[in-house]
Amino acid sequence: MNKILLGPQASGKGTVASKLTKHYGTTIIGTGNLLREEIKKETSLGETLKGILDRGELAPDELMITLIKNEIKKTKGGFILDGFPRNLKQAEDLDLALKELNQKIDAIFYLNLEKEQVIERISCRKICSSCSEVYNTKYVPPKKEGICNNCDTELIQRDDDKEEAIEKRLNIFEKNTKPLLSLYGNKVITIDASNSPERIFSDIQSHIDSLVDNEDIQ
Ligand code: AMP
Repeated sequence: MNKILLGPQASGKGTVASKLTKHYGTTIIGTGNLLREEIKKETSLGETLKGILDRGELAPDELMITLIKNEIKKTKGGFILDGFPRNLKQAEDLDLALKELNQKIDAIFYLNLEKEQVIERISCRKICSSCSEVYNTKYVPPKKEGICNNCDTELIQRDDDKEEAIEKRLNIFEKNTKPLLSLYGNKVITIDASNSPERIFSDIQSHIDSLVDNEDIQ
């Protein structure tokens, strides 16, 4: 079963994607993480991307669809798109790519969160500089302050979570990503993302289970 997760920054897309993966064995294609991996490799592409991400802007559409196509080709047994598509052009490109790859999207979830809550959550968001595990210092703190539970590495604030970049990213979400909700229309299942990660997961899970029951999706 192939899914798209839409939602503003800090709405819990990454967290729920990893819960879905653990439960259903689907592959996460998280574009933010893929780009951050490229940046870590310190290639010239990575250097260009670093500037784009730090400023809170979007990476070029052509690069994104190439990346997504390659990642979809590698998957077996379903995938979750986390962070893609981010605008109407990317949605069009995705449509074409899926046709070419003989794939389709079975469910689109919109994790709905008000701007004030997004800003509050981001101000508490910390990420492991090594394994990219995400923490919220208020709601999902690490066991040892400032240190990753998985790999004992220092937690940092992402450059693009700093105030100036965040304002830009939220504007891009409103202007470029939100119109996807009208494009996908009644295919979109809206989830209240102000709830806990466990509740968000169980809401999505019950939708998936009823889709599977009704339509025999694998
Ligand atoms: P995220 O971790 O999903 O918030 O993504 C972090 C950053 O990666 C974004 O602010 C963009 O700069 C870049 N990015 C992620 N996904 C996309 C995409 N689909 N199109 C363009 N840029 C993206």
